[in-house]
Amino acid sequence: MIHSSDRMQYVHSDIRGPIFREALELQNNGINVLKLNTGNPAAFGFKMPESVYNALHSQELRALGYCDFRGMPEARSAIVEYHKSRGITGIDEDDVFIGNGVSEVVNFALQSMLDSDDEVLVPTPCYSLWSNTVRVCGAKPVFYLCDESSDWYPDCKDIISKITPKTRAIVLINPNNPTGALYPREILLEIARIAKENNLLIFSDEIYDKLVIDGKKFVSIAAIAPDVPVVTMNGLSKSHCLCGFRVGWMVISGPKEATRDYRESIIKLTTLRLCSNALAQLVIPAALADVEYTDSMVRPGGRIYEQSRATVSALDRIPDISCVKNSAAFYVFPKIDAKKHNITDDRKFARDLLHGTHILVVPGSGFEWETPDHFRIVMLPEAEVLEDAVKRIGEFLDGYVQK
Ligand code: PLP
Repeated sequence: MIHSSDRMQYVHSDIRGPIFREALELQNNGINVLKLNTGNPAAFGFKMPESVYNALHSQELRALGYCDFRGMPEARSAIVEYHKSRGITGIDEDDVFIGNGVSEVVNFALQSMLDSDDEVLVPTPCYSLWSNTVRVCGAKPVFYLCDESSDWYPDCKDIISKITPKTRAIVLINPNNPTGALYPREILLEIARIAKENNLLIFSDEIYDKLVIDGKKFVSIAAIAPDVPVVTMNGLSKSHCLCGFRVGWMVISGPKEATRDYRESIIKLTTLRLCSNALAQLVIPAALADVEYTDSMVRPGGRIYEQSRATVSALDRIPDISCVKNSAAFYVFPKIDAKKHNITDDRKFARDLLHGTHILVVPGSGFEWETPDHFRIVMLPEAEVLEDAVKRIGEFLDGYVQK
C-alpha cells in the first residue's frame, strides 16, 4: 500500500468531490443533471471574447518556446498597467508572476512563505482553494467570520481575536466566493491597519473584481495600503470566461525590503516550473484592454446581472430559505431553516437534493462553513433555468425532513 501524505487527510474538495462524482454517474445513466457546482462560464454558453480570439490566432507562433519564468514581458506590462489603474502604486514588471490560473499562483505564494504550524487567517465561508492549500503546506488555516447579518463582510473583531504569535498572513477574497459580497473601503482600511500592526502579509484574491453589479465600486486593498506587503491575485478565468486557458497572476506590492527574501523563494518555485502556458499568456494584453466584454455582462440586460437578479428574487419567494443579495461575482450562499427540516448534515442535504431534483449544488461545509445550513448556487445558466431550478429546490425542501 502506498502511503498518502498525512497532510492530505485534511484536504477536501467538495466542488468536484464525492457528490459531484455521483452526479456524473447519474449523467452516465442518461439523467440530465443541472450542475450548479462550478463557476465555469464556458459550460453555460458564454463565448470567447473576439479580442482574445484575434490575439491568439495572430500570434500563436510566438508561443512555441519556454518564456520568461515570471511570464511574457508584454503580458506583465499589461498586468502592471491594469493594477496601476486600480490605484496600486510602486509596482513594475518584476513584481508580477503569471501562472496557470490563480490556483497555481496561490500554491506558489503560500508554499514560499509557510512553515509547518504557521497559521493563516482565512475567511469562513471560503473558496476552499485557500484553506486547502494552507493545509497542503502543512500549516493551519484559522477561520475568521464573514458575517451574514452584515452583508457577509469580514468581522474585524473576530480577525483580531484570532491572531496569535504563529499568524503569518490574512487572506481576503474580494469580491467573495461563495457569498458574492463586495467589501467596502472602511473594512479594507481596518484590515490593512490590523495587518500592519501585527506584521502580517495580506493575500487578496480579486479574481471577480470586474464582475461587480448595481453600479457599486470595487476597491483593491493594495491601493489603499501602500505601506503593507500585499499579494494581489487576479486572472482571466471569470472576467473573460477563459477558465480553460489557465491564466492567473499575482502582483506583490508594498515595502520592497519586507518581501525581498519571500520573492526569492517565489522565483525559485516558479523557475522549477519553467514557465506558465505561453499560448494563453499571448491574450493577456488584449483581454485587459477589452473592458466592454466584461462590462456588457454585468450591466442591466447583461447575462450575469439578469441571472443574479432572477435567482435572488426566486430565492426570496421560497419559504425557509433566506439569502443576502450578491453585489458581485455569480454566486449566492442561501441559508436554509435547518432546524425546521432537521438538517444536521449539509452534505447529505446536497446529495438528497441531487437525487430528488437532479440539481447539483455545493453544501456550505465545502466552503469551510461549520453549521449545516447553507449551500452555494452558481448563477451561470440562463435566468429562466435558474428560476425554475430555485422553484424546484423550494418544492423539494417543502417536503424534506432529514433522516
Ligand atoms: N479564486 C477564487 C475566489 C475562485 O472562485 C476561483 C475559481 O472559482 C479561483 C481563485 C481559481 O481561479 P483560476 O481559474 O484562475 O485558477
